[in-house]
Amino acid sequence: MDSRIVPVGGTIGILGGGQLGRMMALAGRSMGLRTVVWDPAPGPAGEAADHALWRPYNDTEAFDAFVSLVDRITYEFENVDYDAAMRLAAVRPVFPPPELLRVSQHRLREKDTARRLGLSTTPYAALQTVDDVSRAVREVGLPAVVKTVQGGYDGKGQARASSLEEAVTAFHTLSAQGVLIYEKRVEFEREVSVVVARGENGHVVTYPPTENHHFNGILDYSLVPAAVPQTVEVELIRQAEALADGLKLVGVMALEFFVGRDGRVLFNEMAPRPHNSGHWTIEAAFPSQFAQHMRAVAGWTVSAPRLLAPSVMLNLLGDLFMEGLDRLPDVLTVPGAALHWYGKSEMRPGRKVGHVTVVADTVEEALDRARRVKALLGGGWNDGP
Ligand code: AMP
Repeated sequence: MDSRIVPVGGTIGILGGGQLGRMMALAGRSMGLRTVVWDPAPGPAGEAADHALWRPYNDTEAFDAFVSLVDRITYEFENVDYDAAMRLAAVRPVFPPPELLRVSQHRLREKDTARRLGLSTTPYAALQTVDDVSRAVREVGLPAVVKTVQGGYDGKGQARASSLEEAVTAFHTLSAQGVLIYEKRVEFEREVSVVVARGENGHVVTYPPTENHHFNGILDYSLVPAAVPQTVEVELIRQAEALADGLKLVGVMALEFFVGRDGRVLFNEMAPRPHNSGHWTIEAAFPSQFAQHMRAVAGWTVSAPRLLAPSVMLNLLGDLFMEGLDRLPDVLTVPGAALHWYGKSEMRPGRKVGHVTVVADTVEEALDRARRVKALLGGGWNDGP
């Protein structure tokens, strides 16, 4: 297999056709990297890529066409089929290595791997049968969160339990979806993520920790720099670098953490790709997480990111726009606001259809501007002061 770096004018194949693939393709294009997207269903990456294949991942003709068009391959979400990624890895370099898909697709494997590599997590146990529930309650403790180990996202496939009875109910509600993980609920002060990039030469760089606020289980807004003490920031970065090194990451990966009231840093989950909580890097950092990812995948140099300004990123969900998009350009009347629209064909409630990033001189000013953006769009401020 040819392992030379991708030349300018070369082509990166992207598995997955969503907004992350779209922003990867746009970042790649500005550096002279062409892209080919492969996804079973048409998506917003198609408009930005040079070529798109809307065919199932087990389609052998699509496989041959994709391989013939690309120098290297990446993926834009972690539920991309692991077997398809492995078949591709036999003929073209796939970055991040498919092992990161295998780890991130399974919450137990993910937490076991993180602990082996020196990260801290909340106590947890596997639930295979209903008999495991009482042992988990005894050994891990209450209150708890019970989750499916596979396929959950944006808070789906989860139930909270404050008693043995509730834990048993959670088991019965979720166990049809396979093995479950029982986690001790964390009394966290903040949810924070770290985007880390690693080049083929092993050089690791991290973005400043980002503070994340959710509403209805979906990321509502991200804020940078996160309000965490220096000691917490050092520990977040240590854990992110340990996972990136330990898994031999090539590309960009995001890690989500809980920061406890006592300042403890507990790893929750990872995504081996650019992340929603890193979208602010397009305007407020250099290079952006998407440019950094494409550079790493191409075998080019990753560089230590520079934070250019405090910023807030607001997700735009389909609910807002069911009745038209007329008000959307109004957000640009707010100073420092940048609009990103993904061009999705359907507006569904809860679906991420775009985002707005606002930059400012201070975090307070960025928050204030973000509130003005929300007010213009007719949305309440869910979680702010
Ligand atoms: P996840 O899919 O693991 O990111 O969980 C979705 C959200 O549920 C997180 O962003 C947290 O707000 C909450 N959550 C998940 N696990 C825990 C936990 N062990 N303790 C407290 N909150 C949790």
